[in-house]
Amino acid sequence: MLDESAYQALMSITKRPASVMVYGSGSWLTDHEGKRYLDFIQGWAVNCLGHSPRVVVEALSNQASRLISPSPAFYNDQALRLANQLVVHSCFQRVFFASSGAEANEGAIKLARKWGALHRNGAYQIVTMENGFHGRTLATMSASGKPHWEKLFEPKVPGFIKVPLNDLDAVVGSIGPETAAVMLEPVQGEAGVIPASREYLQALRRLTRDKGILLICDEVQTGMGRTGTLFAYQQAGIEPDIMTLGKGIGAGVPLAALLAKEEVCCFEPGDQGGTYNGNPLMAAVGCAVLEELLRPGFLERVRELGETLRYGLLQLSRKHRLGEVRGAGLLLALVLPQPKAEAIAELARERGLIVNAARPEVLRFMPALNVTIDEIAVCLGILDQILGEVFETA
Ligand SMILES: *Cc1c(COP(=O)(O)O)cnc(C)c1O
Repeated sequence: MLDESAYQALMSITKRPASVMVYGSGSWLTDHEGKRYLDFIQGWAVNCLGHSPRVVVEALSNQASRLISPSPAFYNDQALRLANQLVVHSCFQRVFFASSGAEANEGAIKLARKWGALHRNGAYQIVTMENGFHGRTLATMSASGKPHWEKLFEPKVPGFIKVPLNDLDAVVGSIGPETAAVMLEPVQGEAGVIPASREYLQALRRLTRDKGILLICDEVQTGMGRTGTLFAYQQAGIEPDIMTLGKGIGAGVPLAALLAKEEVCCFEPGDQGGTYNGNPLMAAVGCAVLEELLRPGFLERVRELGETLRYGLLQLSRKHRLGEVRGAGLLLALVLPQPKAEAIAELARERGLIVNAARPEVLRFMPALNVTIDEIAVCLGILDQILGEVFETA
């Protein structure tokens, strides 16, 4: 432990353990005392290739010595390369790069409002989901459906109508002449890994098309292979009008993206921008990440690893009489019969395993997409022991 005062220069924004992380490699994180942790959070579903993967280190160092930031007033080769790759491998034709998921979502909201202003008589409302999470800027907090955010930072940005997830009638009932779009996560991550059903996503796509409004998928957490396909929308067999990416696309560096169909791209010069947006240093990393995810067999392997972890969690659930296992790919959650997730995550950390208590009764797992079978076994072994102690089922 450092001296108490050493921590105080940082604004206190969340409860953190006293250990200070200094080193990461693959699935393993090491703190300042040399203690090692098996990391099943990975920077919050960010480090899709694990800690300090070689391809990211090389992309950063190669690009850093060539060109870091020519300013957004010029094209650069890396942003062009990444945008073209994303267009080739998605259903979208246009890309705008940002530095965080919230910023990408802020851009999606602006694009939908501009589109509504131009093509739907000034419609500006966006239907979003209860318990959804879209980021921490004022507009994205307003779009989010976290119950305890409702009274924070008033007045909120207006124009967001919240409905329950997987309830099509609620969406139908909330669409009016002012509605420009429906926005959701294909799997709600922060809410505790709650998937939108395939039928619901398909029905939403039909509904939004019939009503002449946009469908926006926030794939900041689900995108870039996390759920077993490059993007989660592909599993539902739909094509949204707008999608946002973050987290995994940068594999640990600040990179995010707003993608849109050509026909909804209506930004004009001056509408959108940002000093760091599309800088070649981050874009070079994005290119390296995408190249890895698209290697033959990589995504198939993510699906296999996801099945291995899911099966192991199901066995733990049966053995310790817990709840369901849900999610997709390597974004999975184990539901507990009591609100003990935080205590379990704490015990796990003491024993060298990092997992997330997404909700009081939900443990969330988001390991590196190249986690090994052995590492999954280590995770399950530590959990098995702790669950036995906590629920007295050992
Ligand atoms: C993490 C997350 C965001 C916010 O991304 P930041 O990079 O933290 O701004 C937005 N949407 C979803 C679905 C997320 O999981």
